[in-house]
Amino acid sequence: MMREALLALSLAVTATLPAQATEPLPIIDVHLHVGEAAPGAINPATGKPTTANTAAERERLTLEQMRKHNIVLGLVSGPDAAMASMRRAGGDKIWAGAFLDDGGNALPPTDTLRKAFTSGDLKVMAEIGAQYHGLNPSDPWFEPYLALAEELDIPVGIHTGLGPPASPYTCCPKFSVNLGNPALLEPMLKRHPKLRVWIMHAGWPYLQETKAILYMYPQVYADVAVINWIIPRAEFHQYLRELVTAGFGDRLMFGSDQMIWPESIGLAVEGVTSANFLSEAQKRDIFYNNAARFFRLDRTASASVDVVR
Ligand SMILES: [Zn+2]
Repeated sequence: MMREALLALSLAVTATLPAQATEPLPIIDVHLHVGEAAPGAINPATGKPTTANTAAERERLTLEQMRKHNIVLGLVSGPDAAMASMRRAGGDKIWAGAFLDDGGNALPPTDTLRKAFTSGDLKVMAEIGAQYHGLNPSDPWFEPYLALAEELDIPVGIHTGLGPPASPYTCCPKFSVNLGNPALLEPMLKRHPKLRVWIMHAGWPYLQETKAILYMYPQVYADVAVINWIIPRAEFHQYLRELVTAGFGDRLMFGSDQMIWPESIGLAVEGVTSANFLSEAQKRDIFYNNAARFFRLDRTASASVDVVR
């Protein structure tokens, strides 16, 4: 979710989730955020205030959670300075992403991005939060960035589906439910057949459209970030089960969407480990193998992790 939406999120209260130990097998978290803290912000899943009261604490506690859950690689996006700090603290375990439309009007020149991708300072183009700003990701504003990503083979992660309840009245007056529909990705997918795209938040609650895009475009993956801890657990499991039953268990990736609540990483992990309808192999795919394939870790010389089978 977008940074400016966090305060609104703290107002939302949903299910309370129990704590549970997790197995120490490696995990890739494809959806993390960095930036300022929001002292006192209530975690909508636990009803408790955040454990991170400063930016430094947010960073330290996020890395602590990553170690605790054996998250061997985390993809972060947020302000440049916060990403640089996270990379210094986390080393090879951290990949930085281009957070293109934060605020809706600060799009960087493509030349700047080209340099950052070429040098490796940025590894992915995500999170793209067009929905928060009333933008359609298939519209011309995004086209130069998609062309660049396709040319450089940079994965693109696009926010879809949900936002903090009441977003149009609080953070984001241009937010539109309709703009979160994954079916809107189709025109850009047709224009850029080699582009590696993943649907962030797996399009929830647009289940049918998410299935339709995943079925028609086999190169597209999806992450289950935020829906694995912020919506009611039974609803997440039903949604996850539908996607796996539909044949997409090898294209779903774990993400936490940790924002200002470091403890949400553990809740997100538990959202998947508690899915009793999945085999251990299916959980391994979601936690690690699918992301390793999508992000081509086996072909990345600097990667400190290998595909586990
Ligand atoms: Zn998001």
